Amino acid sequence: MFKNNRIVQLFDIKYPIIQAGMIWASGWRLASTVSNAGGLGIIGAGSMYPEVLREHIQKCQAATDKPFGVNVPMLYPDIDQIIDIIIKEGVKIVFTSAGNPATYTSKLKANGITVVHVVSSVKFALKAESAGVDAVVAEGFEAGGHNGREETTTFTLIPMVKEQLSVPLIAAGGIATGHGMLAAMVLGADGVQIGSRFVASDEASSHQKFKEEVVKAKEGDTKLTLKELAPVRLIKNKFYQAVEELYKTNPTKEQLIELLGRARAKRGMFEGDLEEGELEIGQISGLIHEIKPAAKIVEEIIAEFAVAKKEISI
Ligand code: NDP
Repeated sequence: MFKNNRIVQLFDIKYPIIQAGMIWASGWRLASTVSNAGGLGIIGAGSMYPEVLREHIQKCQAATDKPFGVNVPMLYPDIDQIIDIIIKEGVKIVFTSAGNPATYTSKLKANGITVVHVVSSVKFALKAESAGVDAVVAEGFEAGGHNGREETTTFTLIPMVKEQLSVPLIAAGGIATGHGMLAAMVLGADGVQIGSRFVASDEASSHQKFKEEVVKAKEGDTKLTLKELAPVRLIKNKFYQAVEELYKTNPTKEQLIELLGRARAKRGMFEGDLEEGELEIGQISGLIHEIKPAAKIVEEIIAEFAVAKKEISI
């Protein structure tokens, strides 16, 4: 079905479905399963110390002979070391995010790596293209976790980026089904990046309690907050309420940093502390009702896509 698709061709995969790199969720198990199922699995390096990442890359290579990638969010420490490990271990695809695409693109490309950068605006999409990336992920306001400040929705962002971008475009934010995938492609995307739906998978390394919370989440249960630090969309739990209370006092940035403390994300998503931890997930969690094997999720999205395509052609 996707033979002439630019994303399928760029990564040499079967379906233009990319499993988002997600801290505390996408280790080698999830990435290799999605790749084996015909999508592009991505290891999220953001929550990994360099040697942990090396181990995940090696395990992923052993678990699949299909292409997979590594996501490097540049707001985390040890980035130079992470990049060196990626090159040394022979990773072929890197998705950079939360930073300047000019920093590592040339170095990665000089080592034969396909580079994709994640953006939340037209301006940064064009900056990424100028930096020489092979494709761009444009992620809308609906997305979970760290996000743009502009609050541009996927429905608005994709056609605006498409109007000006030449390299292949991957849509992200608010996409969890084949229907959403088709909609994004109608708007001009060549493929989609899906996060939240893969958190609710057997293979995600997130804590079971967090996965269950994602399944329980309804429309309106997440919010983008902490814009003064790095905007993040999370479930409105006890920690979020504490942030809201602090906002009422017109806090300084330092007070926000103090409340955030260290390792909130690990506490919530990896250790399963649903009250005090950060629970990063997208708005579309309201549409996710079950935890399933990741390969089944890929299969269902493709089946839904075919149904959606047929329905709109009537
Ligand atoms: P923190 O900076 O609070 O803590 C680091 C966490 O990452 C720990 O859980 C640590 O694991 C793990 N880790 C993985 N690799 C490394 C590494 N190379 N060096 C240090 N720690 C590593 O992590 P967060 O994920 O909560 O936040 C990351 C960044 O994003 C911070 O700069 C934070 O301020 C910012 N942030 C901003 C938010 C906002 O403004 N909205 C919300 C959340 C985070 P271990 O515990 O095993 O050591």
